[in-house]
Amino acid sequence: MKKILFVTSEAYPLIKTGGLGDVCSSLPKALTELGQDVRVLLPKYPSLKTVGEVRFLCSLRIDNHPITIFETTIPDSPVIAWLVDCPDLFNTLGNPYLDEQGLPWANNADRFTLFCRVAVEVAMDKVNRDWRPDIVHCNDWQSGLVPALLSLEIDRPKTVFTIHNMAYQGLFPVQSIYSLNLPGQLWNPNGLEFYGMLSFIKGGIAYADRITTVSPSYALEIQTPAFGYGLEGLLAHRSDDLVGIINGIDTNEWNPETDPYIAQRYNVHSLHEKQFNKSELQRRVNLPVNEHVPLFGLISRLVEQKGIDMVIECLPDMVDLPMQLVLLGNGDKDFEQRLQNLAHLYPDKIVIIIDYDESLAHLIEAGADVFLMPSRFEPCGLNQMYSQRYGTIPVVRKTGGLADTVVDTLPETLNNNSATGIVFKEANAGALLEAIKRTMLLYHNHDTWRQLQTNAMHRDFSWRSSAEQYIALYHSI
Ligand code: ADP
Repeated sequence: MKKILFVTSEAYPLIKTGGLGDVCSSLPKALTELGQDVRVLLPKYPSLKTVGEVRFLCSLRIDNHPITIFETTIPDSPVIAWLVDCPDLFNTLGNPYLDEQGLPWANNADRFTLFCRVAVEVAMDKVNRDWRPDIVHCNDWQSGLVPALLSLEIDRPKTVFTIHNMAYQGLFPVQSIYSLNLPGQLWNPNGLEFYGMLSFIKGGIAYADRITTVSPSYALEIQTPAFGYGLEGLLAHRSDDLVGIINGIDTNEWNPETDPYIAQRYNVHSLHEKQFNKSELQRRVNLPVNEHVPLFGLISRLVEQKGIDMVIECLPDMVDLPMQLVLLGNGDKDFEQRLQNLAHLYPDKIVIIIDYDESLAHLIEAGADVFLMPSRFEPCGLNQMYSQRYGTIPVVRKTGGLADTVVDTLPETLNNNSATGIVFKEANAGALLEAIKRTMLLYHNHDTWRQLQTNAMHRDFSWRSSAEQYIALYHSI
């Protein structure tokens, strides 16, 4: 059994902006179920949604900031969460990283440096809790300074750094190294310096004992210039310590047999009942209720990564086909506007909901026939796995975790019952439209479609085997 301090900036349902939040609660849960002693450390944002008891754990002071650590559990689980409360820096409601305009909070460097410092104090048990982790497992740039700072400690725990998305690096002006009072030894081209900037993610990549990322394909992709954002050389240099472990999904949270958010629960043996969710979804979003027209769903942050520009380019052609689309998402204001303009032109075909809505996300997964995920890059991606579990056929681009988790429909994959979706290669609207046309043909072949749904619903995306891979990794260090 290992003691694991799991350091993250989000954990569902306490706080979530995307897949990081899902993974940083479902992985600790899976590790706990496998007998590991896990504590999840995260900031106590004002918008954090705790349920149940929140107890005082300890207090400390760093650079004149008074800090309190509280203890609670991740709701509906036995996993202990330690919440770092520093009202001086974490005093804003809303998104943990961005202000109302969608711009990074001006004091992000200070906030997450402080958070990392607290993580180091906890990791070295300077907070006197009589609990010293064997492993400190950090996630994304917000905790990237932890392996760097811990590297300066004697008799330290081992460190693992997981990259959930290379596109977010935590880059700050060079002056920050002084204002943040970071140790000078860390400031060099093999350390935190990145072309004259301070790079938080490099703290993880350069100093952690092991680096992981969230799919085997993405582990290879980030060692190339197209996906490495200038860090491909360092990642290739560390390739012996780098491994891709595919994310699992929380199979209790995302289960069509028990899902409290959907209109009609179903399983692979009662697939005909999925239909009730389709009509409920059509009613809920004001689309014509029609059993026979294929209903496409898309749930996403509206950013370039997710191929939203391709969807926008494709839509005027898509509406010539007999189809409907429900898109739930928010993000880039320009994408939001362009999507809404299209929805106004084709109100009986396209509905765009600019929002973040967990319960509607579940109903879309259950009610749609097809799920669109044409990402330009995708470290792992979760919705394509949720979709397969709900018998909603994913249309994905062949990249990262999408390539690793969706099996394209071809004569041979139909023959051996492995086909679960539609996979296309090129990152352009034409290729997406072709994939959509291919999907429509398959949809209208009832037997083939049922076979795809059945294959998809039989896939095992639970955390068990991935969590076991993490445990083996912890033991290997
Ligand atoms: P990423 O982490 O890059 O955003 P993932 O596919 O790994 O992408 O995870 C996204 C998670 O966030 C999924 O659980 C998805 O359902 C959820 N999500 C994204 N946008 C929304 C939204 N607008 N409303 C509800 N859930 C959303």
